[in-house]
Amino acid sequence: MTATTTGSPARAGATLGEDALAALRQSVRGRVAVAGSEDYEQARTVWNAMIDRRPAVAVRCAGAADVRNAIQFAREKDLALAVRGGGHNIAGNAVCDGGLQIDLSLMKSVRIDPVRRTARVEPGVTLGEFDREAQAFGLATPLGINSTTGVAGLTLGGGFGWLSRAYGLSIDNLRSADVVTAAGELVTASASENADLFWGLRGGGGNFGVVTSFEFDLHPIGPTVLAGLVIHPLDAAKDVLRFKREFVAKAPDNFVCWFVLRQAPPLPFLPPEWHGKEILALAMCYAGDIAEGERIAKPLREFGKPIADIVGPMPYTAWQTVLDPLLTPGSRNYWKSHDFAALSDGLSDVLIDYARRIPDPQTEIACAQLGGAVSRVPRTATAYNHRDGQYVMNVHGRWDDPAKDEACIAWARSLWQAAAPFATGSVYVNFLTQEEGGRVREAYGENFERLVALKNKYDPKNVFGVNQNIQPTV
Ligand SMILES: Cc1cc2nc3c(=O)[nH]c(=O)nc-3n(C[C@H](O)[C@H](O)[C@H](O)COP(=O)(O)OP(=O)(O)OC[C@H]3O[C@@H](n4cnc5c(N)ncnc54)[C@H](O)[C@@H]3O)c2cc1C
Repeated sequence: MTATTTGSPARAGATLGEDALAALRQSVRGRVAVAGSEDYEQARTVWNAMIDRRPAVAVRCAGAADVRNAIQFAREKDLALAVRGGGHNIAGNAVCDGGLQIDLSLMKSVRIDPVRRTARVEPGVTLGEFDREAQAFGLATPLGINSTTGVAGLTLGGGFGWLSRAYGLSIDNLRSADVVTAAGELVTASASENADLFWGLRGGGGNFGVVTSFEFDLHPIGPTVLAGLVIHPLDAAKDVLRFKREFVAKAPDNFVCWFVLRQAPPLPFLPPEWHGKEILALAMCYAGDIAEGERIAKPLREFGKPIADIVGPMPYTAWQTVLDPLLTPGSRNYWKSHDFAALSDGLSDVLIDYARRIPDPQTEIACAQLGGAVSRVPRTATAYNHRDGQYVMNVHGRWDDPAKDEACIAWARSLWQAAAPFATGSVYVNFLTQEEGGRVREAYGENFERLVALKNKYDPKNVFGVNQNIQPTV
């Protein structure tokens, strides 16, 4: 008889014999994968190539019943349990060494109700898949900016993108969720049912159960929006950022402008002499009437002497995938993140200084703009707490050659330190790396103790422990 050994540091020592695996196979409708199979490699391979973990077994679930049985199996065998949605989490929490991986990526159903303007979404759905279904009816909900990200993990951490200033975070548009708890119960969480759990799911990540179905509100969007990039030389960045700061303060909520500092990629709309040189890219989107958007965006587009301006009407689904080529899976990634209440000149100086020393052409400093509808929800209304942050910086350390690990990580850490005096002290839980478990309390601020109480109630034994973990105290 062959055996598969579990090596989880959290729950070490269990061995899965063929009998146990056969029983697990019989109990699920989906697929059970162990080392040596293509299924296994697909389940364990995540977006960030720095993550190379090997679960003892992966259950590629077909439905909620599989999730229940997988949780029960993991509990009986005392296995660490990791949960995978889209597999994008930078910390690699979708997969564990040893233990059991619940892989939800095959659960792909999206059902749009165009009359009620709602969507029912299974947890293996990516942002691009959701957008595609909803946009068939001219509808959308706020999601992130890279179409291969999972709806599940993104939503459970908060979720923001181009529509968030107008319509809030993904969680602000969540109506309900079906959840399998640590006890193996399938419950619905909403404002009227298990409201405490619903509060915790909206930002608390995978700490309280496995979500098998999300129900979202949808909004009429596009299908054509005004969106695109305006590119400036890095030397002009300080003036441009100063102008942008004043400009966006007065812009309506359905106008948003993120910015990125990086080396210019060799894209056809950029003059060849700029390829590889440091630039500032403004990424803007107006989700509303195109002519009105043109009028609103004009002063920002005309400021200074841009190298390129490719802002124009485009399908919302196209805009939602426009950054995909820069964010493909399989590279090495190390991120550091801060929230900022304002974009001060001092902060701009730091960002520009580090942009001049970017260690790899794939690496960038990205700053999302929030505010608007996100800030109008009280900080204690959902587990997601940092509603006041106007900007979220994500230092996207990104490269391919392992020999560059040390230099790229050191650069990202140093930039993060230099920017710290300007930061609010809070952080977006979905941007934390694997070494930053100590920042979980910062991610939740005043909501942290309530989350611990919820963890004590729903998962006192920390069955769901492979995540940015809220540890139970009972
Ligand atoms: C290239 C890139 C771009 C990004 N852009 C944005 C952005 O614009 N806006 C934004 O808000 N975030 C963004 N993110 C961050 C993203 O929200 C997180 O990485 C998120 O964790 C991804 O979710 P996932 O399902 O793909 O990840 P996974 O790695 O599969 O899951 C992450 C964690 O979520 C939990 N989880 C997943 N599914 C479930 C479930 N069904 N039930 C319970 N727990 C579950 C688990 O703890 C899991 O470990 C981006 C990430 C990347 C890599």
